[in-house]
Amino acid sequence: MNVSVAPATLAAEGLLQTPVIQRIGVIGAGQMGNGISHVCALAGLTVVLLDVKTDALAKAMATMGHNMDRQVAKGTITQEDRDAAIGRVTTSTDYAAFGACDMVVEAATEKEEVKRAIYKTLVPQLKPACMIASNTSSISITRLGASTDRAEKFIGMHFMNPVPVMKLVEVIRGIATDEPTFQATQALALRLNKTTAVSEDFPAFIVNRILVPMINEAVYALYEGVGTVSGIDTALRLGANHPMGPLELADFIGLDTCLSIMQVLYEGLSDSKYRPCPLLVKYVEAGWLGRKAQRGFYDYTQTPPRPTR
Ligand code: NAD
Repeated sequence: MNVSVAPATLAAEGLLQTPVIQRIGVIGAGQMGNGISHVCALAGLTVVLLDVKTDALAKAMATMGHNMDRQVAKGTITQEDRDAAIGRVTTSTDYAAFGACDMVVEAATEKEEVKRAIYKTLVPQLKPACMIASNTSSISITRLGASTDRAEKFIGMHFMNPVPVMKLVEVIRGIATDEPTFQATQALALRLNKTTAVSEDFPAFIVNRILVPMINEAVYALYEGVGTVSGIDTALRLGANHPMGPLELADFIGLDTCLSIMQVLYEGLSDSKYRPCPLLVKYVEAGWLGRKAQRGFYDYTQTPPRPTR
């Protein structure tokens, strides 16, 4: 007799063990990697943070310390919490440092070839039970997982920026992701005091499928001269009650990341409505990537930031 039992039932009956994550690796010490390390360390996890650039690692540690100081000043954490959390984070440029990790969260640059190259170097260093989560904003979890030796232990864990502040984590199962990996990821998000939204594995998932085309449309409005940078941002802030205007938000996310997401939507859904605005392409080609480059739709060397168009 061939009786199949749903994995969810097995998990509920305790027949599939949910792995507990205590030691976590984070790849990429940019805006997201530093935020992910911050919340994991504060939640009591041991964190190993890796980047190709040693200066990015030093900067991430300084940012984390500074952001935790602000939390101490606000009274949301104690000085002891802060010091203990910072003490749980180590940095490395060597993938061998991930040998004892229960999960590695990859938060490197939003380029599929970069992520694939990372996984190739990463997987020989991992213990067999180690899960891999990608923080990708848009790339197929099924495809990324298939490029590793453990598609069943591969999942999307999409944190929002800034990670310590934003409550949501999107959880994306690839076609091969198993139930224990899904349950462990949900439990981790809960431990980090986040709320999850589960998305199917389609280009850009839920949040960016809706948010980034709106940003792209705002860039088209600028490109076509419908409004100025401050006109467009003021209109959406006050007219739609958005806390940030779409161009300000694009600078905050990073224009390179926004462009990559539009390209994934355009190619993945084969629909011309997702065509990246040529002006967005031009800004990225100029290296005007937003806040992280001090210049995007605003010039951040001025106080307050000055619109560039
Ligand atoms: P970022 O440019 O701030 O940081 C990326 C980091 O990855 C850099 O420090 C870079 O040195 C490092 N890196 C590049 N190649 C590497 C390699 N081979 N090995 C190790 N490190 C490498 O980018 P970010 O905004 O932190 O985005 C990272 C990821 O998070 C992307 O997948 C992005 O789509 C996703 N994400 C971004 C946001 C956002 O608002 N910026 C939100 C959610 C998810």
